[in-house]
Amino acid sequence: MGCFALMLLFLTTIFVEVLGVPLDSELVARASLKEGKKRCSQNPSEGEALPGRKDNMDERGKYHGGDMVLTPDQLGELKQGINGDNYRWPGGIVPYVIDTNFSPSERTSVLAGINLITSKTCIKFTNRTAENSYVFIRRGNDGTGCYSSVGRQASQPQVVNIQGNYPSGTCAYPGIVAHELIHALGFYHEHSRTDRDDFITVSWSNINGGSAYNFDKYPASFVSLFGVSYDYDSLMHYSAYAFAINHNLPTLIPKQSGVSNSRLGQRSKVSTLDAQKINTMYKDLCT
Ligand SMILES: [Zn+2]
Repeated sequence: MGCFALMLLFLTTIFVEVLGVPLDSELVARASLKEGKKRCSQNPSEGEALPGRKDNMDERGKYHGGDMVLTPDQLGELKQGINGDNYRWPGGIVPYVIDTNFSPSERTSVLAGINLITSKTCIKFTNRTAENSYVFIRRGNDGTGCYSSVGRQASQPQVVNIQGNYPSGTCAYPGIVAHELIHALGFYHEHSRTDRDDFITVSWSNINGGSAYNFDKYPASFVSLFGVSYDYDSLMHYSAYAFAINHNLPTLIPKQSGVSNSRLGQRSKVSTLDAQKINTMYKDLCT
């Protein structure tokens, strides 16, 4: 990256952070590069918490909830969100384009991520032809991390950013790809559910103040639970150590006895309840 680009990035970062309001997703994306590099410094793992690696790549971003790029309406918790029909994909069909810059093995991971969703739900992913609204699964540069918009963004291509395989880490694992695509279907994180305090304790003292928004809880007017109970096994749940100051201590602690910290944050499968929620959200749309 040239000096001019670095200066532009620096100024953009200041502008966004001072205003506190994202101007548009791409601007925020560029503004987050610096932070992303810091957060991607460890090797990634696909699944459950492992020794020396206790959180997931998608939990390391600077966006809302780590990896969600929200619209102004969504940021304001106002008119529409996960409950808004216009954020859903007509027919349960998601047209997509996969970046040609992915390596063959990364592309295989992306397709496997899509398959994790389609094998358990009524959602279909189809190669984009002429649709205005579609998902562009982009191979992100080093330090860009992984992120997605929440729900369908009408009449525009929406980026699902998957950091490619760099020494600093990659998001090109099927479980992480599926996690980001489920955001694009219209889902927030499991631990942001309205009823999460009945199931999980947030250890605020171990969360840096600047990261606390990643643990926001959403009101019932904004998200629907679809009659499905809280799911410690959700692909959309943070790991127990997400955004920890002291990485030896959890930030999320299950309240239910018998549920271990290491059970949280799996990135290997769409859980049974994840599939139920997706199928319920799309039950009137899927063809
Ligand atoms: Zn996420």
